[in-house]
Amino acid sequence: MFRCKKRLGQHFLKDKNIVRKIVNIADIQSDDFVWEIGPGKGILTEELLNHSCKLTCFEIDEKLYPIIEEKFSNRINLIKQDILKADWQRFFPENKVNIVANLPYQITTPFLFKVAENADKFSKVVIMIQREVAQRINAKVGTKNYGVLSLKMQFYFTVSYEFTVKPHLFYPPPKVDSAVISLIPRKDKPVIDNEKLFWNIIESSFRNRRKMLRNNLKVLISSERIDKLNFDLTKRGESLSEQDFLELYNEVKKVQSTTLNQ
Ligand code: SAM
Repeated sequence: MFRCKKRLGQHFLKDKNIVRKIVNIADIQSDDFVWEIGPGKGILTEELLNHSCKLTCFEIDEKLYPIIEEKFSNRINLIKQDILKADWQRFFPENKVNIVANLPYQITTPFLFKVAENADKFSKVVIMIQREVAQRINAKVGTKNYGVLSLKMQFYFTVSYEFTVKPHLFYPPPKVDSAVISLIPRKDKPVIDNEKLFWNIIESSFRNRRKMLRNNLKVLISSERIDKLNFDLTKRGESLSEQDFLELYNEVKKVQSTTLNQ
C-alpha cells in the first residue's frame, strides 16, 4: 500500500473539476509540449493526456514509479529525478514548453527561480501553490505581501491569480489554503545589462522592511557613494515599483562609474 510522504509535499488532488479547471486555464492544444512536476498518482496527468499533448513528467518518489508506469506506460516520458537537480537543458524540446503542476509546496520558491532563469523556454506556467505564496507573487507595490518574490516573478512574467482551492479537495488535506496561478513570460521585460546588480539592490532594499533605503543599501554601496545617489533614500523598499528600482539601479551604476573614473 502507498503511504503519502509529507516531506515530499504529497497532497493528492481528489476533485476532477479542479483538475479540469487547471488544465483549461493552461489551454493545452494537441502536440503542445507539457511538463508536469510531480505526477503523483496521475489525476492531472490523465486530464493532460486527454488533450493529446506531448507530456514529460518529473517525479522524485520511486514508490510512485510502478503506479505511474502501470497507468500510463509509454504515453508519457517519465523522468525519475528531482526537478530541482535535473539538468533542464537536456529536456527542453525545440518548441516552448507549458508547465502544469500541483507543486510540492516546499520546492515552490527555488523551482520558480529556476523557471524565471529559463523564462524564454516556456510559453505558460500554471501551478497550484500555497495561497500565501501566490498572494506574495501577485502582490502590488505598497502592500504587505510585496517583496523580492513579487518583483522577481512580475519582472519575468505576467502573473494572474486564478482561484483559491480549499484543503478538503486534497488527500491528505494540507493545513493551509492553496491557489492556482498562471505565469506568461513577458515580451516587454526590461533589458538590463547587469541583472546581478539589479537583484542585489532589490534584495538589499528589503533586507529590513522597516528600514529606509539609505540604511538597507549600506551593505552594498559605500556611504560616500550613497550620498551621491540622486534618489530619495528616505523611502522603503516596499514603496518602490519595478520602474523605481530601475531608476535606482541606473543611479547606482552612474555613481559607480563616475567614482571609478575619478
Ligand atoms: N500531481 C499529483 C496530484 O495533483 O494529485 C501529485 C501532486 S503532490 C502535491 C506533489 C508531487 O510532487 C508528489 O508526487 C511528490 O512525490 C512529487 N515531488 C516532490 N518533490 C519533488 C521534486 N523535487 N521533484 C519531482 N517531484 C517531486
